[in-house]
Amino acid sequence: MTRSRSRLACSTPVSTYGSSTRPPGSATSTGSVHAWRSEPPGGGARPRQQPSLVLDDLLRQQDDNSRRILFQDAVIIPGPADRQPLRGNVLVVGSRIAEVGPRAGADARDAVLVDASDHILMPGFVDSHLHAWEGQLRGMSPDADFDGYLDLAHRSLATHFHPHDSYVGNLVTSLVCLNAGVTTFIDNSHNCRSADHASAAVEALLSAGVRGVYAAAAPLFGEWDRQWPKDRDRLQAEYFSSQERLVTLRMMDVNSDAESWQFAHDRGLWVSSEVGRGWVDNILDLHERGLVTETHTFNHCLGLTDQEWRIIAENGVKVNVCPRSDTLFGLGPSFPAVDEALAVGIRPGLSMDNEISFSVDMFREMTVLLHLQRGRVHERRNSSQEGVPEPISAADAIEFATLRGAENAGLMNRTGSIEVGKEADLVLIDTTAPNTLPGSDPVGTVVTFAHPGNVSAVFVGGQVRKWDGRLVGVDLRVVRDLAEQSRDALLDRARGEATPGAAPAGEQAQRLGSPPADWKSSAED
Ligand SMILES: [Zn+2]
Repeated sequence: MTRSRSRLACSTPVSTYGSSTRPPGSATSTGSVHAWRSEPPGGGARPRQQPSLVLDDLLRQQDDNSRRILFQDAVIIPGPADRQPLRGNVLVVGSRIAEVGPRAGADARDAVLVDASDHILMPGFVDSHLHAWEGQLRGMSPDADFDGYLDLAHRSLATHFHPHDSYVGNLVTSLVCLNAGVTTFIDNSHNCRSADHASAAVEALLSAGVRGVYAAAAPLFGEWDRQWPKDRDRLQAEYFSSQERLVTLRMMDVNSDAESWQFAHDRGLWVSSEVGRGWVDNILDLHERGLVTETHTFNHCLGLTDQEWRIIAENGVKVNVCPRSDTLFGLGPSFPAVDEALAVGIRPGLSMDNEISFSVDMFREMTVLLHLQRGRVHERRNSSQEGVPEPISAADAIEFATLRGAENAGLMNRTGSIEVGKEADLVLIDTTAPNTLPGSDPVGTVVTFAHPGNVSAVFVGGQVRKWDGRLVGVDLRVVRDLAEQSRDALLDRARGEATPGAAPAGEQAQRLGSPPADWKSSAED
């Protein structure tokens, strides 16, 4: 937003918003040339302000439910694979998208203007499955297979988490998501050791301002308060009584547990589960009990039978695949089940799983998926196999990372695409950086060239969270200190080196009601 020398404009092809020119699930654009030439902007551009002044306006009016924001002259990627990008404006009123198109907002004279020329405007990414509590454990074991991850994260460090550590982990993960353009994620929180741990995790999501789905689950190892799933009723009353909050509640289940699935069904709660060989693998039994329904989100889905895939599809279960996690951890086929899902008519979401071994980066997740899937298609074609699936397209990858994530989160009517009436969860990607210029094909630029450093601005429900390349209202020095201290304390406790009594007492004092809020800064810092 600080640069305005070269100006992108969509000319070939110019699409009308909502027009469908390419069927989903096909990569017929492979080999074709997408040229996006420069041309004067439409829609009556007005003089542009300094980015810092625009931010001042955005923050000054953030509590005004009628506030208008006009994103001008963007190359807009709507999200669904069958909708072509277009050049135009997006008008936001309050938290929602009000108009989209070449002349959208032409009459909104009082709007805060965001110069989106030189940028791609797209829906925020939605991660279908992330374990946010592990945020401060980031990068501790780049070569871990699944057993290594279980030993380090769950059997060891998880058992030493205090509520304060749950807050810090969720905070670190929420902030890296916002920085990387991930505006929504399902927090598969399988280290819910007490009611205070759960509250701390939710407090962090709410404080960070990310759109989240808090999926609480029992820990895998060690002593815990056995408060879950019954603590669900307290959480619901304490945090989730308002429909307007950014964070919603569901359950997570790591193991095959018909009783807890029944508990969720009785309360109308969605359930996220790790599914496949090594995790929930009794789908047939659960199906016979009537517990496999459209309010389920299945992560991974490695090594399922054709019969199980049919049950999943026929019952409307949402599915997400984890290109990097599935290939790194070595469970079952160890290959993302994208073709298996597409074969039964399911368009999957994407998920990053955890940060023990790799980063929060949906750009990489899309790239890895595209290359893996195409490599397998080519391998099978070149060896003259029959029944080879079609290669997925870059546009498919964006849909998986946005709209299908929203479907996994049960939020398809609220987020995941740039459509009138949806929440304004929006991301601006700079197309003047060395790795993104000249932005010839916006879809290709996002999927295979951009990275989180190119995310200039992020909005969640119309509220600015990142601006001009920096998180808004966050003192990263404090966040770093919190992460380092929590990580070191966990390691000390795991080694039996913690000072008896001192650390737990201090951290108990910081639990519910007094979370560490001093990581927030004024926008000017
Ligand atoms: Zn997982």
